[in-house]
Amino acid sequence: TISALVVRKDENTISQAIETIDESQLPEGDVTVDIDYSTINYKDGLCLTGQGGLVRSYPHVPGIDFAGTVASSQHPRFKPGDKVILTGWRVGESRWGGYATRTRISGDWLVPLPDKLTTRQAMAIGTAGLTAMLAIDALERHGLAPSKGEVLVTGASGGVGSVAVALLHALGYKVAAVTGRPENADYLRDLGATSIVDRADLAEVSKRPLETESWAGCIDAVGGAMLARILGQMKYGASVAAVGLAGGAALPATVIPFLLRGVNLLGIDSVMQPIPSREAAWARLADLLPRDLLEKSARDVTLAEVTALGPQILRGELTGRTVVAIRG
Ligand code: NAP
Repeated sequence: TISALVVRKDENTISQAIETIDESQLPEGDVTVDIDYSTINYKDGLCLTGQGGLVRSYPHVPGIDFAGTVASSQHPRFKPGDKVILTGWRVGESRWGGYATRTRISGDWLVPLPDKLTTRQAMAIGTAGLTAMLAIDALERHGLAPSKGEVLVTGASGGVGSVAVALLHALGYKVAAVTGRPENADYLRDLGATSIVDRADLAEVSKRPLETESWAGCIDAVGGAMLARILGQMKYGASVAAVGLAGGAALPATVIPFLLRGVNLLGIDSVMQPIPSREAAWARLADLLPRDLLEKSARDVTLAEVTALGPQILRGELTGRTVVAIRG
């Protein structure tokens, strides 16, 4: 039998429960995967609580990423016993996701687990870590190098932020970590942050479109007024990777930083990212990310604990990565 965390919507009430489901209920797909681990991302918080309009039909099984073992496959790239990673493709949003002991999926969407990683380590990285890696790749393609100066990471104690801090540190960058939780300063320094910036210092749009040139690059998980403010603080020719909207989807900015300082705003999408660049990013993550830092940023929970954590991640209360052990 298959156990799954099923979200139901009756009238306007959302409920979640672990249920037994039948193999015949699983989504279409040419690969069947026994899932070891999934995780809790910001989007999972939305899907667990029925917010953001991401889930279109109920009952629904959330979980936007998972890692596990192929049970059966009609896909040429995969055979039983292969270890695989799934992130994105709207899995866990528009179709059933990783909060289940087994699922069916298109093999076109799977990435083979790199030899150097376990399925748990892959999910300690997860969608958040893949996105952080893609953001660093993009910044480097636009000229970022450790010699250029300090790199700012916003939402630093969240999932994307924590992995971004650890990765940048591993690559030799000086990292300024923006957090609204001063109690997380030691955690962020342990991950490799060289300075801590109070969220309040960047929370409001400045009256001046340009401020002191401070940052050689930025990975921004927050958006909103903070992103607008940061654009005016970037060094000449530097780039910001826009990753998230934990602080809002608006962008109350002027074009002045683009015109007078040649600042670049780079969009980062992990969901529809083509397989070759995913495989390259996972290989780089497997090589780069110090395992002790990965452990520092990850904690383990059971499937039964997930329901309570959905609202917490939306309130910005989770620290680092939360790995869901699907088999308890
Ligand atoms: P998360 O773990 O909740 O991290 C978000 C962090 O942002 C929080 O820990 C908090 O850090 C900070 N924060 C929360 N509310 C805030 C507010 N109102 N103002 C300023 N800072 C706030 O979530 P996540 O899973 O890392 O995702 C972060 C964002 O990236 C989300 O918007 C998510 O949808 C997005 N994302 C995008 C992609 C993509 O493909 N583009 C992939 C993954 C995630 P501090 O307490 O340290 O300040």
